[in-house]
Order: sequence, then structure tokens, then C-alpha cells
Amino acid sequence: MARIVMKFGGTSVANLERIHNVARHVKREVDAGHEVAVVVSAMSGKTNELVDWVQTMPKVAGAASPFYDAREYDAIVASGEQVTSGLLAIALQSLGINARSWQGWQIAIKTDNAHGAARIQDIDGSDIIRRMGEGQVAVVAGFQGIGPDNRIATLGRGGSDTSAVAIAAAVKADRCDIYTDVDGVYTTDPRIEPKARRLKKVAFEEMLEMASLGAKVLQVRSVELAMVHKVRTFVRSSFEDPDAPGMGDVLNPPGTLICDEEEIVEQEVVTGIAYAKDEAQISLRRLADRPGVSAAIFGPLSESHINVDMIVQNISEDGSKTDMTFTVPSGDVDKALKVLSDNQGKIGFDVVQSEKGLVKVSVIGIGMRSHAGVAATAFRALADKGINIKAITTSEIKISILIDGPYAELAVRTLHSCYGLDKA
Ligand code: ASP
Ligand code: MG
Repeated sequence: MARIVMKFGGTSVANLERIHNVARHVKREVDAGHEVAVVVSAMSGKTNELVDWVQTMPKVAGAASPFYDAREYDAIVASGEQVTSGLLAIALQSLGINARSWQGWQIAIKTDNAHGAARIQDIDGSDIIRRMGEGQVAVVAGFQGIGPDNRIATLGRGGSDTSAVAIAAAVKADRCDIYTDVDGVYTTDPRIEPKARRLKKVAFEEMLEMASLGAKVLQVRSVELAMVHKVRTFVRSSFEDPDAPGMGDVLNPPGTLICDEEEIVEQEVVTGIAYAKDEAQISLRRLADRPGVSAAIFGPLSESHINVDMIVQNISEDGSKTDMTFTVPSGDVDKALKVLSDNQGKIGFDVVQSEKGLVKVSVIGIGMRSHAGVAATAFRALADKGINIKAITTSEIKISILIDGPYAELAVRTLHSCYGLDKA
């Protein structure tokens, strides 16, 4: 017997037939004698519709400003999950399963006060555990909790992954199964490289990098949480026949296991290639090379909530002037340029140059910690294809390379094959 938290995303609960299909997945695990709790998202498209209503209401009401109250935003957008949790409970009851729906406040999933982007602070799992012991399936509305102000708080878009991992940690589940519309995590985006392979296992740290780099399988925070609490997390498809052979395998269900690196016996040097589009580069030329200059640049940018990613600084030739290049999302360039020009006097630079529409491709793998030459292989392969590299940053388990947008797909395929990822 295992204790399993099963999470179903928006496309998996998009209509009543699919909710029935989800109920069959749950029934399979219950019939096998496992203790089960379920977390659901809203029907796909529902949260977008609700957010749109929230944003439109002030205009319709003739308000001078588009401002709306974040507490009311949460009251409205959390409703999508309330509906699917109730519907799934009914579908399960129809299959003869003892099931009950729970809203975030009823568990209670306690969050901080950051309405719209709240963080979970505490979950008391004892009641869910007690009900599991009695054979009841708790169907929990994802994406929501209750803040210190006693009001509903939502966890940020995509937050039901985080709800599921947090509940799995709170009930000490053996597994957290994230059912979605893809059947696992791939070596790269299969839409770009059809030879991409599904990974059997990915280490938490690698998944964190892939998720932050735009592999949108899981909310980044859910991976952070899984890593901290060592929650073994499976990414798997809800669209497969719930009763197909192997679907109920306790140790190796079909999909990708995200786990501690110690569980990965045969670690490849490189696990995957990720990319992030719409990056922009900003360069400050002839910058004063003195203590405090980085703080003078990046302090004001961070106060304006501009997310700076790669930072490259040259060592000056004469000890007085240098260049600094960094990247921001393309959508933030104009804002960033304004902040820089407002602070030009304090920072002390000559000119600023910027370029939008760049792409960051990244090679990820914890195996590169103990292997030399991984970066050189990437540089050689890109050079052979005539792809120019604009900037490079590395960490222990990642090499990120900034290139011109039109080369993105070629670069992804080139890197994917130069590490042999397309060979099974
Ligand atoms: N329904 C929410 C959203 O669309 C939460 C989720 O799907 O994880 O962001
Ligand atoms: Mg989602």
C-alpha cells in the first residue's frame, strides 16, 4: 500500500467527460488499496476568463483607474477550482468511492498575505491522513489557501502544482503524481526536435533549471518545494486509458520521475536542452570601473521589478572604464532603459545599447559537475553551424548561451544531437 497525492491540471478536467476519466484514474489507485488524496485545477480556460472579468469590471463600472482589490481578485479567480473539486467528488461518488471536496480554507492551507501570489506557510495534514485511514478520498481545490486576514488567497498562476506538492509533503505521501496533457518531461521541446526523448528520471535541481527556462510542465515553485521536502513527483498523462497495463505500477508508473539525484544511478552528463525566447540584451558602454557601480545599476532595476538574468562584465584595460552587458525579458527593455537613463549620472556610463528578440539556449545536467569539456562541445557544435554566441553564463549544472532569435531552433537541435540526446 502506498500513499499517493494525484493532481489533475486544467486540460485533464476540461469537461465532464474528462472529469469522469479522471475519476477512473483515481478509482484505479483506490481499488489497488492505496491511500489517495486528489488536487484539481480549474477547467482549462476558466481561470483566464475569471481574471479577464476581474480586469474588466472597473472599466465597465466607469472607474478612473484600472485598479482592483487583490482580495476580491482572489475571491473570484479561486472559484474555478471550487467547481472542479465538487464535480470530481460527485464523479467519484458515482463510481462508488467515498469522496469529499475541500476548499483551501477548510484544510486549512495557510498562506501569507500576498494576495494573488501567496506562499503556503503551513498545512496541517492530520485530517486528510485520518480520512485516508477511513477510506475517504479528499478532493482538494488547488491554487488556493487562506491568508492571515482570514480571506481566500491564491498562489499565482499555475499554483495548483504547488498545492499538490505541499499537500504531498504535509501528508508524507510516497508519491505526488502530476497528471497533465503531456506524458512526461522530455530531453527538449518535441515540437522543435521530434527526436526528443521522454526522460525516466530527472533530478530536482535539473528540473528546477528546466522549469525556470520555460519548460512549462510544472510551476517553478512546486519544484522548489518538492526539492526541499524531497517529494518524489511523477509527471504523467491523464489522457491514457486509466486501465491500460502498467498504469497502476506502484514503483514505475509511466511518466517522468522528478527525484533526488541519489536515486538516479546512471547519471548522463547532459539531461536536457531548454530555451527561453524573448530575451533582450542591454549593454552599458564605458562604465566607470569602481566599487558600487553594479549596485548602482542593478539596485534601481530590481526596485522597478525588472528581472535581470545573465550579467557579463569585462575587466577594464586601464582600470578606469569597462563595459557591462546583461539580459532582461524583451517586454521589460523600455522600462529598463528608462530606469538606466534616469540614473545615468549616478551610475556613470557613456552610452547604452539594447537589442530585443534574442534567445537563451541552455544545456542542463548534474553530470557536468564531474565532466570537463561540456561547454567546449557546445561552442564547437554551434560554431560548425555558423551560430554566433553573444553571451555565456554557466553554473555547476548549466551552460546558458545567448544567440539571435532566428537561430533558436537550429541551436536547440544542434545541442540536442551533439550530446547524443537523440539516441535512446
Ligand atoms: N487554475 C489556475 C491557473 O490557471 C491554477 C493552475 O492551473 O494551476 O493558473
Ligand atoms: Mg496548470
